[in-house]
Amino acid sequence: MLTNTYDTAEPDAQNSYSPLIGSSSRVESPRYRCPVVSCHQTWYRHETSEDIPHCPIHDLVLVRDSKG
Ligand SMILES: [Zn+2]
Repeated sequence: MLTNTYDTAEPDAQNSYSPLIGSSSRVESPRYRCPVVSCHQTWYRHETSEDIPHCPIHDLVLVRDSKG
């Protein structure tokens, strides 16, 4: 009996996907959130001249979220 085991992973030409590059210059609005973990108050700062609001529930200044 012949056991054909194909261990060689051939580089398939269809495996070449090209992620869209060049569109990283888009400026995203930084997201701010309440420092209370269980609180889900979020706010997006669209302009740098805007003042960072307080959380209406905890009366705490929203902090910049690490990842937008
Ligand atoms: Zn809050």
